[in-house]
Amino acid sequence: MKERLKEIKQEALDRIQSAADEQSLQDVRVYFLGKKGQITEVLKGMGKLSKEERPVIGQLANEVRDEITEALESKKAKLEQVALEQQLQEESVDVTLPGRPVNMGGPHLLRKVIRDIEDLFTSMGYEVAEGPEVETDFYNFESLNLPKHHPARDMQDSFFITDELLMRTQTSPVQARTLRKHDGQGPVKIICPGKVYRRDTDDATHSHQFTQIEGLYVDENIRMSDLKGTLNVFAKHIFGEDRSIRLRPSFFPFTEPSVEMDISCKICGGEGCSVCKGSGWIEILGAGMVHPNVLEMAGFDSEKYTGFAFGMGPERIAMLKYGVEDIRHFYTNDIRFLKQFHGV
Ligand SMILES: [Zn+2]
Repeated sequence: MKERLKEIKQEALDRIQSAADEQSLQDVRVYFLGKKGQITEVLKGMGKLSKEERPVIGQLANEVRDEITEALESKKAKLEQVALEQQLQEESVDVTLPGRPVNMGGPHLLRKVIRDIEDLFTSMGYEVAEGPEVETDFYNFESLNLPKHHPARDMQDSFFITDELLMRTQTSPVQARTLRKHDGQGPVKIICPGKVYRRDTDDATHSHQFTQIEGLYVDENIRMSDLKGTLNVFAKHIFGEDRSIRLRPSFFPFTEPSVEMDISCKICGGEGCSVCKGSGWIEILGAGMVHPNVLEMAGFDSEKYTGFAFGMGPERIAMLKYGVEDIRHFYTNDIRFLKQFHGV
């Protein structure tokens, strides 16, 4: 039995030595040390031994068992170390690899145009004012000299939420709200950028949702020439020093007199071409002197105060400045379109 135990020990140690993974070690453990393992088999023959021999064999069997267990543990630790080193090797960082490019975002083209206009007017002392997009009929129409059933309301068909609440059709209600806050005291000098809504069929030049920037300057002794000077500075800042402006008579319910401002066509220099439809001029915005009724409704003394207002569409300005041919490009979030304007 001694010989058999020694054989078992040697065989076990050899197999442990050559084991390549944890599963093989587990197999060795079961084969030699398990309930039906080799050592147990040997010990079954103990009954045939003499009283003197039993403890000797028993002790030897325990020693063999301990040695095998120890060898198993030590081999297991070694295998784990090897696995860890291999993992570290495979997952090591190659610091010489070139970095992955970071995808840089940028402001939307409309946002850039609006910011550019905001910067210009704040540099001239204007404040940026904002207001709600869901507006009351009073602020959106009535306070702007557009009483109910006024025919000019047809030009601004809107999305009504109730009879008295609607999606604002213009940013002018922000002017009305700001004027009221001033309690009849000038000066008021603001620009109001924001989204507006009209019931319109979308095409290359129309959208049911678009942006507007309006400006308002109310103080004593504000004249039409102040308006023209301001618009001239604006046009040259946005479109270039070589552009000139002209004012044409127009109609808006909240200004009197009202004008439309054109800039000279860059393509033909005023000669007439397909872009300016042969006229040499391109329409940019509407403006005028604030109607006395609007001032009075906001609590201003129209004998003492005068003012001018203007309103423009950043979409139209962006289309003209950057050659965008369809207004819908601004809203469809096609990254290929938007990317072209990074850094302009
Ligand atoms: Zn032209």
